[in-house]
Amino acid sequence: MADNVGNADARPDLELEEEFGDERPTIDEQEMADAEKGCGQTAIGMPMGHPAGVPMTGGHPGGHPGGTQRHGGARSMGFRPGGGEAAAAYEARTGIKAPRIIAWEITRSCNLSCAHCRAAAEFGHYHGELSLDQIKSNIDDIVTITNPIIILTGGEPLMRPDIWEIIDYAHEKGAMPVIGTNATLITDEIAAKMAEHKIPRISVSVDFPTAEEHDAFRGQVGCFDSTIEGIKIAKRHGVGVQINMTVTTLNYKKVEAVHDLAESLGVDAFHIFMLVPTGRGEDLLDKELPPEDYEAVLEWAYERQKTSPLHFKPTDAPHYYRIIRQKAKAEGKKVTREEYGLDAMTRGCLGGITFCFISHVGDIQPCGYFDMQLGNVKEQPFSQIWTESKVFNELRDYSLLKGKCGACEYKAVCGGCRARALSVTGDYLAEEPYCVYVPASMRPDCEE
Ligand code: SF4
Ligand code: SF4
Repeated sequence: MADNVGNADARPDLELEEEFGDERPTIDEQEMADAEKGCGQTAIGMPMGHPAGVPMTGGHPGGHPGGTQRHGGARSMGFRPGGGEAAAAYEARTGIKAPRIIAWEITRSCNLSCAHCRAAAEFGHYHGELSLDQIKSNIDDIVTITNPIIILTGGEPLMRPDIWEIIDYAHEKGAMPVIGTNATLITDEIAAKMAEHKIPRISVSVDFPTAEEHDAFRGQVGCFDSTIEGIKIAKRHGVGVQINMTVTTLNYKKVEAVHDLAESLGVDAFHIFMLVPTGRGEDLLDKELPPEDYEAVLEWAYERQKTSPLHFKPTDAPHYYRIIRQKAKAEGKKVTREEYGLDAMTRGCLGGITFCFISHVGDIQPCGYFDMQLGNVKEQPFSQIWTESKVFNELRDYSLLKGKCGACEYKAVCGGCRARALSVTGDYLAEEPYCVYVPASMRPDCEE
């Protein structure tokens, strides 16, 4: 496979807490004040709580940062993506935020063939993949506008023999490379190289708590055991590990069990990914959670992170940032950095805002699931595409959102999944199809 959707998929998950690490106010204060005044309830009265009968936990609010939570990752190395001089100069010059995280599919080749893979990757060489020289030139251009975290993903990035040269070059130029991998190829030698080449963290997909279920989903017997072993080896060598779980109707009742497995392995973070059925995942269209269960999983995550030692980050689930505010309001709390850490500073969908995806052949997309090429780095500099693309610029203008999302008081913190909107309606500015919330202005019963 390509690791999974989980990262191979190029999501801004690996170090999301870096997103707005400069502490500038990025969430529209007025809109959030409006949200505070609104009804703030899910329109269909979803039960607050957890999916599938998992008991909710109590505890301190927010979860991040500090406390007993493990961390690891780029921030622990003092790295601030998009916090350098180039990014500040770029924003001053253009009025556009520079990308802080770039997921880069450095190869599409993979040793697995997972059912839900964004890349629909297979073993073998893919024609037209960027050469090492092309990758280096692109890094040279990227660092003229930012110093991002670069998630090296695939396919399986460890299948690319020159990955260590890519990593060294990215470091040398001031970026921070991390790796999204299925971990089945991690040996002592590979993990030692990760440590030697200063990889702060890897992300690894684990979708089920048992070998039988995971292997069936991943399409290869023995995959679960290899992955778990790879995680243990990486940890032994001091490399941080984030476990990604892609949530579908097949496994949403097992989120607690996978969380507990992650905790028992001593990893640093547990990120749930809500399936976006593109690539090979299109075959899983009927496995996408209905919006009500989707909401319940996110509510479970909100509660569970209060006591978990792991860093949580629901990904490709932008309305989690609406749920945070609804829950906080019900608990009589403000969503401040002190209470909620960097969850208070970031936004649901970051595609085109501070995140984007580069494919194995150099195509640029807002994210790995957003099935539209906005340019190719073989033909045009990355920095030019980031600055001039009409789609990127439309994604940055929340006033263009349509339907419920356009009317929603939470659009600045959520925005809906633009890839899902594109895939379901053909219009990336249409309302998010997987949200139960009805904005206050669309509810006659809601008194402002
Ligand atoms: S209506 Fe759209 S912007 Fe509002 S919470 Fe739902 S997905 Fe987010
Ligand atoms: S468009 Fe959807 S899948 Fe892509 S980054 Fe935004 S939330 Fe994630």
